[in-house]
Amino acid sequence: MKKVIILSLLSVFLVQCISVKQKVKTTPKTTSVSNATAKPKLVIGIVVDQMRYDYLTRFDNKYSEGGFKRMLNDGYNCKNNHYNYIPTYTGPGHASVYTGTTPENHGIIANNWYDKYIKKSVYCASDESQSSVGVEGKWAGKMSPHRMQTTTVTDQLRLDTQQRGKVIGIAIKDRGAVLPAGHSANGAYWFYGKDKGNWITSTYYRSDLPTWVKEFNAADEAEKYMKPWNTLYDINTYTESDKDLSKYEGTFKGKANPVFPYDLPNLKDENGGFDILKGTAFGNSLTTDFAIAALKGEQLGQDADTDFLAISYSSTDYVGHKFGVNSKEIQDTYLRLDKDLERLFAALDQEVGKGNYTIFLTADHAAVHVPSYLQDLKIPSGYFSNSELKTHLVDFLNTSYGSEDLIENISNGQIFLNHTEVKRLKLSATDIENALQTELLAYDQISKVYTRTTLTSSEFNHGIAAALQKGFSQKRSGDVCFVLDIATISYSRTGSTHGSGFNYDTHVPLLFYGNGIQQGETLQRTVITDIAPTISALLEISLPNAATGNPIQAALKN
Ligand code: ZN
Ligand code: ZN
Ligand code: ZN
Repeated sequence: MKKVIILSLLSVFLVQCISVKQKVKTTPKTTSVSNATAKPKLVIGIVVDQMRYDYLTRFDNKYSEGGFKRMLNDGYNCKNNHYNYIPTYTGPGHASVYTGTTPENHGIIANNWYDKYIKKSVYCASDESQSSVGVEGKWAGKMSPHRMQTTTVTDQLRLDTQQRGKVIGIAIKDRGAVLPAGHSANGAYWFYGKDKGNWITSTYYRSDLPTWVKEFNAADEAEKYMKPWNTLYDINTYTESDKDLSKYEGTFKGKANPVFPYDLPNLKDENGGFDILKGTAFGNSLTTDFAIAALKGEQLGQDADTDFLAISYSSTDYVGHKFGVNSKEIQDTYLRLDKDLERLFAALDQEVGKGNYTIFLTADHAAVHVPSYLQDLKIPSGYFSNSELKTHLVDFLNTSYGSEDLIENISNGQIFLNHTEVKRLKLSATDIENALQTELLAYDQISKVYTRTTLTSSEFNHGIAAALQKGFSQKRSGDVCFVLDIATISYSRTGSTHGSGFNYDTHVPLLFYGNGIQQGETLQRTVITDIAPTISALLEISLPNAATGNPIQAALKN
């Protein structure tokens, strides 16, 4: 007995000696040496599509220790992180996270916008010059980041490592994979649900799917999720969301009421085949499976050069659009996403090793409470018709200037004038802008109006005007920008949407975790454009070429 105690005391003493010895040994190292050896082997960027900040706090009593809470407890939490431009949509959101700047510079002014040079609407990630890979002759793979005009932090990593650092982008939505991966990525993959539910890419990256993607597709991984979607835990314990059956929810085609369970095999045919998975919590699980396959298949984080895995979770957005931000369906989607994150982090521990990787987690925008719900609570909110506005403005300009053709397009809160018609009638574009401003301000549910002339001749420092200016590309944007009343949307009376510069759309999570990250939190305002500069600082690589944000120094160890 005595012997055992003495032995264990001795071993404690020895361990202490060793650790003291190690401390003594490491102390004289200069910080630059220890920084150089401590760089992460892998950075994982996670964008959760349409994630409001309050999902972190509202549902936290049901989160596991290994998912969101692992980042919250051991990482750095920027609790007051915002989008700083308008419009808060998916394409601009992903581009801004990774370029560290706003549409003013990177040029992704919306998901779809009116291209005034070719006079038609374009999609932010489409590229007619490319072909689909993994699906025959379909538009689904004709994608590239060519419309994004500046570099991403992922591009800078490629440049800094002489292209040895690998970059892979993954998301169910093409734009969620293509824009984060940047111009010089090794690969970007997204989901095509029409046939068997496969992951595909574009000839922009490669001419054939890599073996690991072919194997993943051949294993019919999507089929495994074609099962009833029920709540993860007893639905009666979901007290942080509205009742399951409410008038504020939409639902799947062929389903009478928006209530659990959702029998996906039966609903599949009426809802786009495997595309139905996109709109359920299972879409995020499938994305996680694919991300883990990429980790192994691409051997990410296995050599001296830092690699980058950009993951975007798209299903959260589809669920929010259909059921609204206060639904049982959204709560279950986040509880399941938490489990998926736990699984992803465990795979990273296994494959790359604890302490060898760094993660950031944010969102591409948040979303508004369903306005019809807010109205029932007497909170100012509403619904707006773009087509009625267009009819009104065409009439107004016809009465004022004698032409029905002075407006070419209205989209994303911007009015594009027909400049050929303006010239033909020998009118002044500025005069028309000003006339439209006065008319729009008299129009119900429009609260603010800014003209091209103002936005290009003044500088705004705060509030909605500054956000509009940061979202305004002199080359690509329209001639008059208008802002709707708060919580007023052009949308169905069920489900949530986003796009404004108000807090419900701009306030999103920003968590850092892992190698080089300080444990802590801040309530000081940070902005979405700070993320890429923070990662650049962590990796000691150049800033994305048009980055306007600042590194969040408090999040970094030093
Ligand atoms: Zn989005
Ligand atoms: Zn429901
Ligand atoms: Zn959306």
